[in-house]
Amino acid sequence: MIDINTIRKDFPILERKFNGKRMIYLDSTATSQKPIQMIEAISDYYKKYNANVHRGIYGLSEEATDLYEKSRKNISSFINSRNAESIVFVRNTTEALNLLSYSLGKKLKKGDEIVTTVMEHHSNIVPWQFLQENGIKIKFVDINEDGTLRMEQFSELITKRTKIVSVTHVSNVLGTINDVKYIGKIAHENDSYFIVDGAQSVPHMPVDVNSIDCDFLAFSGHKMLGPMGIGVLYGKKEILDEMDPFMGGGEMINEVHLSGATWAEVPLKFEAGTPNVEGAVGLSAAVDYLKKLGMDNVREHEKELVKYAMDRLENFDDIILYGPRNPEIKGGVIAFNFKNVKNAKIAKALMDEGIMIHPHDVASILDIDAVMVRSGHHCAQPLMERLGVPATSRASFYIYNDRDDIDEFIRALVNVKKVLKL
Ligand code: PMP
Repeated sequence: MIDINTIRKDFPILERKFNGKRMIYLDSTATSQKPIQMIEAISDYYKKYNANVHRGIYGLSEEATDLYEKSRKNISSFINSRNAESIVFVRNTTEALNLLSYSLGKKLKKGDEIVTTVMEHHSNIVPWQFLQENGIKIKFVDINEDGTLRMEQFSELITKRTKIVSVTHVSNVLGTINDVKYIGKIAHENDSYFIVDGAQSVPHMPVDVNSIDCDFLAFSGHKMLGPMGIGVLYGKKEILDEMDPFMGGGEMINEVHLSGATWAEVPLKFEAGTPNVEGAVGLSAAVDYLKKLGMDNVREHEKELVKYAMDRLENFDDIILYGPRNPEIKGGVIAFNFKNVKNAKIAKALMDEGIMIHPHDVASILDIDAVMVRSGHHCAQPLMERLGVPATSRASFYIYNDRDDIDEFIRALVNVKKVLKL
């Protein structure tokens, strides 16, 4: 299982103090902290192996290329991809989804439809909205009151007109773990591409692209102990092979003539320009770290923490929690708001209109106790609109958090109530 004391020692940043207090980092949904093994892998790369890849025929360049390609293989096996060519290095989930919107978008015609959900991050909405100007229609699956998807709507909304179904595996606000296997089955029965946004699943639970049978999976290195600026687009090779490239330039070509160009094989076809080699090496070291812990253990640890935290939060009669209460279908993310129950008029308004104590106030007061949570719309404004709130606070957990962190968080929340005289 997870040995929290050993893990904490691997994360130098956790030794920092704020206001003389131990930092309680509860914002891993936004980005994770980094283990020393990952930081040293990058440093080692620059100290010993730095050269441009796939270009030089001298030994150093071959070593750099070897490291880059070994990283690809390591990440491929982490998500159980059948071949390493299915792994395209991109900057982040956002870039992966934009690549798909651009390249798959070229195959779509007026009247075609895309199905997604109201709980998506903006990066799984806005790139599809780009296609609306070509007459493509977007349909959104709604949520139930408990923050789960209205699963029955998938078979209603997905039809032969649907060309793309793109759904988040885990919501970055509600924490809902979606049954993507089921959704993918309906997408494929209707000859649609099936895309999974894995930004919040790949870092936190075992994800197997074969078992899900998704055509594409997008995720970001920085949320899974890796560096910023590296992400992954997994795609079934036969589909990547027939797609047009996203960006043009060096690396991605086979031959260039003044009259035109031909493309390199997958995945290089999608990796124009000098790639982020340090990012790939760092992400591979992060994956090694996670593999050693075991993704089943990571998931169990977070499930236990989210249950513990929800039980404690439910003792507050003036806190509203969003998303499922069942830890079996919830990742380590808890979005919440304070309601001002002492003031009856406001309390009514709260219920009628969903007006809350502003989450920015909550987050600022928690910060006095070095408790770091996120506040705002979490890049999910359509979901906020659906929930009837402008914003929420959000606490999220990862491998370096434990019950002590949650106890501190709860103590700090009591202080929020005192400061705001709730
Ligand atoms: N999808 C989800 C579910 C996310 O949580 C995030 C990041 N908050 C993204 C996509 C976008 O990730 P990035 O900013 O790394 O591209």
